[in-house]
Amino acid sequence: MIETDVVIVGAGPVGLFQVFELGLLGLKAHVVDAMPHIGGQCVELYPDKPIYDIPALPVCGARELIERLHEQIRPFAPQFHLGHTVTALQPQAGGGFVLSTSAGTRLRCGAVVIAAGLGAFEPRRLALPQAAALEGHALHYLVRDAKAFAGQDIIVAGGGDSALDWSLELVEHARSVVLLHRSPRFKAAPASVARMHALCDALRMQFLEGDIVGLDTADTALQAVRVRTRAGLTVRVEATHLLVFWGLHPKLGPIADWGLALDRHLLQVDTAHFQTSQPGVYAVGDINTYPGKKKLILSGFHEAALAAFAIKEQLTPGEKVHLQYTTTSPLMHKRLHVE
Ligand code: FAD
Repeated sequence: MIETDVVIVGAGPVGLFQVFELGLLGLKAHVVDAMPHIGGQCVELYPDKPIYDIPALPVCGARELIERLHEQIRPFAPQFHLGHTVTALQPQAGGGFVLSTSAGTRLRCGAVVIAAGLGAFEPRRLALPQAAALEGHALHYLVRDAKAFAGQDIIVAGGGDSALDWSLELVEHARSVVLLHRSPRFKAAPASVARMHALCDALRMQFLEGDIVGLDTADTALQAVRVRTRAGLTVRVEATHLLVFWGLHPKLGPIADWGLALDRHLLQVDTAHFQTSQPGVYAVGDINTYPGKKKLILSGFHEAALAAFAIKEQLTPGEKVHLQYTTTSPLMHKRLHVE
């Protein structure tokens, strides 16, 4: 059981800035995110797009914003649990909460901040009857190490950067690689697409245009993928592993079952403390709703500041929480390691 002051659910821009605001008030945080990396929508949905409405940054790339936030919270040494979905939130009889994650981690804390944005990003799955039995054995939506597929016959489905990048990497390890996409147009770096075509010309991999229409399986093993090609033919492509990279979609998931008051899938909060209907559980960023709410990063930053003050008052009852400026306060300088 991990013990900490605050657990933040979600490592999007607002969850990251929440670490900063809590850190200024001397509170330690653990941050849990379903994704294997930090950044939320900024990294998942529009990493290379410029953002123009972050105060004092006339233009800032979305991934750059996350890198800057990561740098800004470094003095507070937050502990990240990435690739973990928070599945349960249990209020404790003596106060505080225990959160459980999909990876079996349990965290005990005094307060919880839900910064879950649109929900946990999940892979778009293959909707075929045998798919569930194959998942984790011969069907994969996430790859950590291409070497794990050494000597295998692989089909990679998808037309984005993940599909291209992994295809190019797998060529170095697998026995055969077929990239399968429904169109000749890709949403990937042009250099990767050019390299893929060059490898196809050199007969080191193949590209097939079509849709997956069936799987030939034996228990949890894959024998072949049936593909309907653009010409209308159905062909059987032998493979031992199928890697599907069709992008991610957000799902509110377990948060909807935690007994918190919702308004159209968003958590209701008050605008003084950003507390939900459960005392001690706060919600900031895109996941919350209140009159006048605007789903903007700068709104989430403001919410994080007020939630941090409310949490400090909650965790240190009877103690006056003073507003201190980072420019002039020696205590802030100490916490920021800028003495
Ligand atoms: P998110 O960024 O959604 O992050 C939430 C994180 O929580 C995710 O990583 C998710 O995996 C995780 N999570 C959810 N549930 C769980 C769970 N149960 N367990 C573990 N982890 C969980 N805003 C602006 O201000 N300016 C702009 O110019 C702008 N441009 C945009 C352009 C596009 C194309 C899009 C899609 C959005 C844009 N936005 C912009 C909106 C902005 O991205 C969001 O307001 C912001 O990302 C919200 O941040 P967040 O931290 O609240 O949530």
